[in-house]
Amino acid sequence: MENIKELALCLRDANFCTAFTGAGISTFSGIKDFRGKDGLYKQKDAEKLFDLAVFNQDPGIYYRGAKDFIYDMEYKDPGMVHVLLAELERAGMVTTVITQNIDLLHQRAGSSNVIELHGSPLRHHCLKCGDGSTYEDIAPLVRKNEIPRCKKCGGIIKPDITFFGEALPARALKRAFDAGGKSDLILVLGSSLVVQPAALIPLETVKSGGRMVIVNDMATPLDSHAWQRYFDLESFCVELSRELGL
Ligand code: ZN
Repeated sequence: MENIKELALCLRDANFCTAFTGAGISTFSGIKDFRGKDGLYKQKDAEKLFDLAVFNQDPGIYYRGAKDFIYDMEYKDPGMVHVLLAELERAGMVTTVITQNIDLLHQRAGSSNVIELHGSPLRHHCLKCGDGSTYEDIAPLVRKNEIPRCKKCGGIIKPDITFFGEALPARALKRAFDAGGKSDLILVLGSSLVVQPAALIPLETVKSGGRMVIVNDMATPLDSHAWQRYFDLESFCVELSRELGL
């Protein structure tokens, strides 16, 4: 495939390459995509899970709904995209991974420079007194169908995941825009690029003269800005690995 050869050359030459990943890359790991063909949003009331107003009224809706796809993290394995990106980081070809995912699979695969745009369930905090808890504190309770409460004040405990109705974590967002602007190459993998402002990050690369490659099985609003466009993540990974001799 000529395009892949060209991309491999570009990856080797890039001074600063960023990968921007969305839910599409975790479907290989048995995690439900949000907006994909069989996405979580197609299920009834799924968007309520991450709605701040709903959470404040009844945190049980989130904890019951997230039990089987957030609090079972240790039973899920990184997929081929996570593994490839970790290899590319070790080979000095990918500098930063920016992810919209909250499944921690990039870190598990071995990527060390990961910017989590939508926060992480590794940390939780009490909405009343701010006291922090870890995933390890909370997950066993959720699996027992308990709704965690603050040990100090009895307040509601919320994961440090960005819910609808909340702003994205400011520091992560700034780091992500900085990385986007510095990149001479950005690989957009498994993101439908519809959630703002996150989807503007790859545009920073394009605006500063870098190249954008999009790999996603559905159309994205930035397709016309892409230097290269692929639809199938699996064959993309296989062919790129082969071309790079990984
Ligand atoms: Zn508290």
